[in-house]
Amino acid sequence: MREPIRQQLKGAFPYCKWCGGSGCMGCDQERRKYQEQRAKPIFSADRDNPEDMAALRRVIGREALEHAFGPDGDGMAEVEYNAAVESLLQALRKSRRTSEEPIDEPEQDATTSPTLARVAEGDES
Ligand SMILES: [Zn+2]
Repeated sequence: MREPIRQQLKGAFPYCKWCGGSGCMGCDQERRKYQEQRAKPIFSADRDNPEDMAALRRVIGREALEHAFGPDGDGMAEVEYNAAVESLLQALRKSRRTSEEPIDEPEQDATTSPTLARVAEGDES
């Protein structure tokens, strides 16, 4: 059986945004980007960290998903957005923690989106 032409082209990448898989100069780079993306989970939570778990619920919890895929939601884009926000907040939390070592912060109640804004402003309540 004959191979399709594009597979004879070395380095052709099927998800390449430039050539769509027929093989071009951008394929290598597109493949790298794709693999990096796949290797990286959209949000990673530490199971022993209540803040992480609360954040995880805000990303993929039932309410978060119901909103994202509900009538007012943006679907996967919304989930990815929430994941990006939570990853950022998580990074901030962890960088703060390394300087001030273990603080037992009270666990926040894990409601959905409105919490995001509150957390982003810092917990001054
Ligand atoms: Zn290409």
